[in-house]
Amino acid sequence: MPDAQESARPRSIACIGECMVEFAKTPGTSNSYEQRFGGDTLNTAIYLARLLAKNGHVHYITRLGRDPFSNAMVTAWTSENINCSLVEQVAGRLPGLYMVETDRHGERSFLYWRSGAPARELFRGKCESLLERLNGFDTIYFSGITLAILSEEGRTNLLGQIEHRTTDGKATAYDPNFRRALWKDADEAALWNARAIACCPLVLPSIEDLRGIFGEQHDGTGWIGKLTALGAKDIVLKNGGSNVFTRVGGQRKDFALDSVARVLDTTGAGDSFNAGFLAGRALGSTVEQAVDRGHALASKVIQHPGAIIPVNSMR
Ligand code: ADP
Repeated sequence: MPDAQESARPRSIACIGECMVEFAKTPGTSNSYEQRFGGDTLNTAIYLARLLAKNGHVHYITRLGRDPFSNAMVTAWTSENINCSLVEQVAGRLPGLYMVETDRHGERSFLYWRSGAPARELFRGKCESLLERLNGFDTIYFSGITLAILSEEGRTNLLGQIEHRTTDGKATAYDPNFRRALWKDADEAALWNARAIACCPLVLPSIEDLRGIFGEQHDGTGWIGKLTALGAKDIVLKNGGSNVFTRVGGQRKDFALDSVARVLDTTGAGDSFNAGFLAGRALGSTVEQAVDRGHALASKVIQHPGAIIPVNSMR
């Protein structure tokens, strides 16, 4: 946690990942869709930029095309005060796309067209200068989805650079967000997640994702033990509306959460919690205060449809 003088300095944070074009079927129609943009790390970047405001510089690092959808993404992110100078726009390429449909029981199903997305080539080939730029940020944030979409070369380069940052005492936060379909098989998901967990100074998983990745059943304390054995340092473990389990600076603490009366849509719950927690820590909050900030924001997000709520609803 920065000291008082340090915390007065605007913090620079880079979120790394993929944002896609979303077509969400309009409820009650057969073939009418609303078009938005969606991506886990982008959700966190938007909330971080809003929460930190003048106290932070938030960058998003990805690769897009030069098509109208890609251009619209950059315009939208810039209007959220996200710095897009490290967004590479590649001529002739298109961003990933997905369609989402919600059935009458509220269950969502997805169809993806993302295998050709330029974001998959992040940190491949001649990428030394981008890797070097990562060193300049106070905090790097990425997720298990970021890791899953990268090539083996990209994953190796990214984690190698993060190991350097960690040795230099710099912050990196990792949320092992899990999408089974993005990994070749269960072993691949477990292997790369274990590597990321071992090299990032802060991990922000949810119990549900850990179950999916490692195929094991533990309670919160059991998962903290498992993560610690894998080499995790600071851990903030989410579990939906139940306790948040933490181990920060070697100290174990669990936090009960205020309940939310009317949960409408949990999309973006973990992403917004992470933004609240990271913003809190960047501004000098204790772990308890930062968990409060994370939950305060996530509570609002799950009472609105979609991952991104209007700025006014955050107040
Ligand atoms: P993820 O979205 O990564 O799976 P979780 O579902 O564990 O993460 O939720 C992240 C955070 O969102 C929780 O720590 C909590 O603050 C809030 N949250 C999620 N679901 C609920 C719920 N049903 N009631 C209250 N808070 C919730």
